[in-house]
Amino acid sequence: MKKKTILITGASSGIGKATAELFAQKGERLILCGRRQERLTELKKEFKCETHLLNFDVRDRKAVFDAINSLPQDWKQIDVLINNAGNAHGLDTVETANLDDWDAMIDGNVKGLMYVTKAVLPQMIELKRGQIINLGSIAGLEVYPKGNVYCASKFAVDAFTQGLRIDLNPYGVRVCAVHPGLVETEFSMVRFKGDEQRSESVYNSLDALQAEDVANAIAYMVEAPPHVTVADLTLLPTDQANATVINRKK
Ligand code: NAP
Repeated sequence: MKKKTILITGASSGIGKATAELFAQKGERLILCGRRQERLTELKKEFKCETHLLNFDVRDRKAVFDAINSLPQDWKQIDVLINNAGNAHGLDTVETANLDDWDAMIDGNVKGLMYVTKAVLPQMIELKRGQIINLGSIAGLEVYPKGNVYCASKFAVDAFTQGLRIDLNPYGVRVCAVHPGLVETEFSMVRFKGDEQRSESVYNSLDALQAEDVANAIAYMVEAPPHVTVADLTLLPTDQANATVINRKK
């Protein structure tokens, strides 16, 4: 079978890293993206598969297009784009929230994902094939207290995914979204600005999803037969019923 070329944003940590590791084991060709170049370089050293690195901030429109346009000829044909880069910043009510946090979430989770999609899309349309997998969240399916703008950003990802699926329907490009509940990654460390105690308290009283669980769900979407689009996949820890109902053990 021909190897797939898979571009993963946010490959330096969490779900993106676990997805990169899984596809590296499968021997696919990987384009790994992120801001923390040294982490990507470590992965490239570890991986036995062909790997190309791109170092850019998804919020920087010019940097996104420059990076995608800089791909060498034999890396330009991307079979699968995994739009994973994103984070929550803060957990506050609207009146107490920090505007910089709002900018980071809207610019990264929403506009960044759109820029990368727009940059990668032309060759998929030309070849009339390809797959785009967006990292949504259950925060994009229901709003929880103090989730306001993070939830808005993930609702936007869901709407954009649905719109993209309609627009790309004539071209045979599969458009998918995965919506995880609580996944134990660096996500809460970023959300709580390095507060380890607060971050650990999110995960230490339940059996949270691991990044590898989400990577396996993504692989299922990629490996489905070409005539099958796994449009949406919601993944919860068994200890979690929805965004607010969690069976915490202590
Ligand atoms: P994570 O461990 O913090 O990883 C986030 C990744 O995104 C990092 O590799 C980071 O790389 C990259 N990233 C963030 N902002 C970026 C930017 N402006 N430009 C480029 N790269 C950026 O968190 P995670 O849990 O794996 O999150 C991955 C995705 O899953 C996110 O979209 C998140 O919203 C979604 N999600 C997470 C959970 C959860 O509970 N963890 C649940 C549902 C959905 P650099 O810092 O190196 O750039």
